Amino acid sequence: MIGIIGGSGFYSLLEGAEEKDIVTPYGKTSSPVMIVKINGKDVAFIARHGLHHEYPPHKVPYKANIFALYELGVRQIFSASAVGSLKTEIKPGDFCVPDQSVNFTHGRDDTYYHGKESLCEDHAKSVVHISSADPFCHELRNILIKAVQKIALPVHEKGTIVVINGPRYSSRAESTFFRTHNWEIIGMTLYPEYVLARELEMCYANISLVTDYDTGVHEDPSIEPVSSQEVIQRFKENSEKIKNIILNAIEQVPEQRNCVCANALEGARM
Ligand SMILES: [Zn+2]
Repeated sequence: MIGIIGGSGFYSLLEGAEEKDIVTPYGKTSSPVMIVKINGKDVAFIARHGLHHEYPPHKVPYKANIFALYELGVRQIFSASAVGSLKTEIKPGDFCVPDQSVNFTHGRDDTYYHGKESLCEDHAKSVVHISSADPFCHELRNILIKAVQKIALPVHEKGTIVVINGPRYSSRAESTFFRTHNWEIIGMTLYPEYVLARELEMCYANISLVTDYDTGVHEDPSIEPVSSQEVIQRFKENSEKIKNIILNAIEQVPEQRNCVCANALEGARM
């Protein structure tokens, strides 16, 4: 089964889906898990912000979402997000498949392995340090890149995503700080999704739609800082494209995994 974490743009794919309310040791998922067959493959979908967008980025039950997908047998996850651009050449409407990430969130529970305080017996057995040197699955990333290219859309094949806590957008000074590090895009939801997936030896890759220029563009004062209205509008305009990218990607997912994610815990236990 393939997992998808995304937004309302996917709902039209889910007609006739079986809805499952899943309660995990980490609470309820942000939406019922919707299970549907797409091109002969079983797909489990979770609306990250809830069916009615009731969870802000810092309140998304990330651990429940990833654990529920794991329990259903999902081992490969595609996620979709809206992001801001930190570089002029990365334009609103472009897609980016990030290969690196910088975490600027705080207060989010970002591990299943809390030693003896772990909620799962299995996770309490040892102290674990997974590698997040390459935080996203290279196999799923390649599939996403090809899926975007197949429908002839502009794609940035690499990029560092800065994940901020939100829910507010960056100040100009914060945005300048991120730009001076040469990072590419900025969002609020990718962390800790991908690390939690890795801790459960699941593959995870993300397709980001660029919706705005964060606090604007220095050389062009006519470009205003981002607003939620702008994000929603740009996401709506592009939701059909995101859906097609994910549909294309689902077709390409291999039965056998040939990546490091499947053995992420090898050598990670102390
Ligand atoms: Zn993988």
